Amino acid sequence: MADDSARSFLPYALPDIGEGEISEVVDSLRSGWITTGPKVKRLEADFANWLGGSVDCIAVNSATSGLHLALEATGIGPNDEVLTSVMTFTATAEVARYLGADVRFVDIESSTLNISVEHLAAAVSPRVKAIIPVHYGGLACDMAAIHRIAETSGLAVIEDAAHALPTTFEGMQVGSLDSDATVFSFYANKSITTGEGGMIATKNPSLARRMKVMRLHGIDRDAFGRFSSNAPAWYYEIVAPGFKYNMPDTSAAIGIHQLRRLPAFHKRRCELADRYSRELADLPLILPIGARQGDLMAWHIYAIRLTPECKIGRDSLIQSLADRGIGTSVHYIPLYRQPYWRDRYRLTPEMFPNAETAYQSMLSIPLYTKMSDDDQSRVIKAIREILE
Ligand SMILES: *Cc1c(COP(=O)(O)O)cnc(C)c1O
Repeated sequence: MADDSARSFLPYALPDIGEGEISEVVDSLRSGWITTGPKVKRLEADFANWLGGSVDCIAVNSATSGLHLALEATGIGPNDEVLTSVMTFTATAEVARYLGADVRFVDIESSTLNISVEHLAAAVSPRVKAIIPVHYGGLACDMAAIHRIAETSGLAVIEDAAHALPTTFEGMQVGSLDSDATVFSFYANKSITTGEGGMIATKNPSLARRMKVMRLHGIDRDAFGRFSSNAPAWYYEIVAPGFKYNMPDTSAAIGIHQLRRLPAFHKRRCELADRYSRELADLPLILPIGARQGDLMAWHIYAIRLTPECKIGRDSLIQSLADRGIGTSVHYIPLYRQPYWRDRYRLTPEMFPNAETAYQSMLSIPLYTKMSDDDQSRVIKAIREILE
């Protein structure tokens, strides 16, 4: 133990950047093309290809931007409501507020920590226009049930797939399902990173067109071209007050190489998750249930929950791990506990019993590709010692 605390701090997460990423960024810098250009086009094409080819992929400067564009293109606006999980990052919900729409939060299902389909169905009302499912930790939501609810009530489905790369539902890649749009995050701690960045995937050509226009100031370069084939190169039309959400080539340069490494990254994440699940199994903990037989889970988060048999609480476990130089996190402080959301909708923990029970007992332990087997042994040993 003295040996452990003398060792360097093991952070909760770290990006995995290789020489390929570094030289591609240098190439971008030397080329003089540092904002949106050929490397963004390549990343979009590679990503679409990776999803099986029949989707439009639109690179953006964050998943938050992507979610905003997707809701805007879907026509969400004032007096509308969107339904989403209460156990998510605030970005999932805040984008509805950008558009003047409101959020109706839905409790989770305890076993998966994903949005409860029963509570979701019960929350549908005439004001509700869209569902934003979040694949918690990279475990797919029950998308068949969610699409059924959406179809019955004429709702849009925008998947928050920030954790879900790669994730499959009934054998299909998240991003290629029949949702209106699916948004991935390339934030520093996600499955693949561009520093800041995101990708929207959609099969709907009119949504894709709107999102491409709104991604960059509402500039429509195709508008003139539709009527005349000899539009001069300098000509463009502004068709809406758009946003500044484009991804720079310096970021796409990183993403191109990260995407190529995704299979190896995912293999390593699965190894780490499997080992946690084996070597923590006998402790008084609730461990993640993992993907259903035949499906993939991205393992963005490995959340453990303390059972009542534990002699210590969640906060003490986090502190004891920190004392041993091990970083952890909590995903998430449910949004009904955040002052803005709590006060706007007068939310209380009693309204979300499953999320509250999970929140009180949960913490996320380190799981990332740069962790060594020794690093993981250290985490397992520390948890065992503290709980035993
Ligand atoms: C990271 C994350 C986001 C936001 O992603 P950014 O790329 O940082 O905008 C949204 N939703 C969830 C669930 C996330 O984890």
